[in-house]
Amino acid sequence: MDFQLDEELLAIQEAAREFAEKEVAPTVDEDDKEHRFRLDLVKKMGELGFFGATIPEEYGGTNSGFVALVIITEEIARIHSSLRVALNMQLGPSRALIEFGNEEQKKKWVPGIVNADIISCFAITEPDAGSDVASMRTRAVRKGDHYVLNGSKTWISNAQVADLCLVYAYTDPDKKHRGMAAFMVDMRSPGVTAKPIADKLGTNASPTGELFFDNCVVPAENLLGKEGDGFKICMTELNGTRISCGSGAVGVARACREAAVAYANQRVQFGQKIGEFQMVQDLIAQMTVQEHAARLLLYRAAWLKDQGCPHTLEVSMAKYFAGEAAAFSSDCALKIFGAWGYSKEYPVERYFRDSRSYQIVEGSANIQKIIIALDQLGYRKANK
Ligand SMILES: Cc1cc2nc3c(=O)[nH]c(=O)nc-3n(C[C@H](O)[C@H](O)[C@H](O)COP(=O)(O)OP(=O)(O)OC[C@H]3O[C@@H](n4cnc5c(N)ncnc54)[C@H](O)[C@@H]3O)c2cc1C
Repeated sequence: MDFQLDEELLAIQEAAREFAEKEVAPTVDEDDKEHRFRLDLVKKMGELGFFGATIPEEYGGTNSGFVALVIITEEIARIHSSLRVALNMQLGPSRALIEFGNEEQKKKWVPGIVNADIISCFAITEPDAGSDVASMRTRAVRKGDHYVLNGSKTWISNAQVADLCLVYAYTDPDKKHRGMAAFMVDMRSPGVTAKPIADKLGTNASPTGELFFDNCVVPAENLLGKEGDGFKICMTELNGTRISCGSGAVGVARACREAAVAYANQRVQFGQKIGEFQMVQDLIAQMTVQEHAARLLLYRAAWLKDQGCPHTLEVSMAKYFAGEAAAFSSDCALKIFGAWGYSKEYPVERYFRDSRSYQIVEGSANIQKIIIALDQLGYRKANK
């Protein structure tokens, strides 16, 4: 890739920008304030093909690739970081199905996820298993033609609105991560309950909840891959969703930079625009470089994935750096806005709150740094 988007990618960017500016922006403040999940907008994103960017055409996708997904996600997150979570939640299960599902499973679920007839989610995190994924306790026990699922998950995006969940559980806990399996679970199955996590710092318009599995019966045909494949599926899925998440961080960083530049050019103190003060210029310069560097890291990681090249290291670098760029840029924007940054009249306080999630989700900043450092030190190569 020569850093010039081709015509197809430019058209995709234009479509995503138009949708975000015309259909998302008008109600973004109200949606955020009311913690309103906009299913109508998610369905529209399905109609526009945004959830099918990385999905082959035979399953309803556009097969445009991960670079296209990066571009779409940035445009959506630039306007509303909460709404970009929908891209992540449709991506995880659909890509896991494409990479590990059998033909019947792909046909059954992927087209519905792509057009948003099916709202999906994925459940890895548990009360005592966050970064340490392998310490999860949810169990799946085979009984004839089905599995019985018991356990709980927490901090699951879309938990209370999803139709379908990709759930990770142990079929054989003694084998540690080699005993994990992945299941497609119909959220209307008896024994599944969802409870909202009522209040969060940000990402207000994206529902987050706890999930409880109480003797939940899952048909054996809903097992993805084989028993024991769960950890591999999970790590593969994260290599895709981290790209999506990092792109969201770039969108937030860009929103911060754009807002800060506009304000610095308008606010006058000591008889001149505050943008003319070198200390404000320093912040604008740093925000700009971080945003652009993060975007390029994301493009590269996505491009490698699209080429079928190893990409775990590049994904971790991009996700880590983009999360830091979003948090840094939102700090800078708050400083530049002074008291108005502290007010709800301008969106920078939302950017500040939303930016924090990018240092936590899909593997925290520390977890990404561990992957990068272990690779460089030669202790555990990320790209095998
Ligand atoms: C808004 C939101 C949405 C989410 N959506 C989902 C979802 O849809 N599905 C899902 O499964 N999960 C989801 N999560 C959960 C998310 O993936 C976890 O929060 C994340 O993996 C971190 O786990 P934890 O919060 O338990 O933190 P912990 O693992 O307890 O970590 C706490 C701190 O310790 C640090 N730490 C932990 N281990 C190490 C180590 N070995 N070395 C150095 N530092 C370490 C971490 O970096 C962090 O700073 C969501 C979280 C949020 C906030």
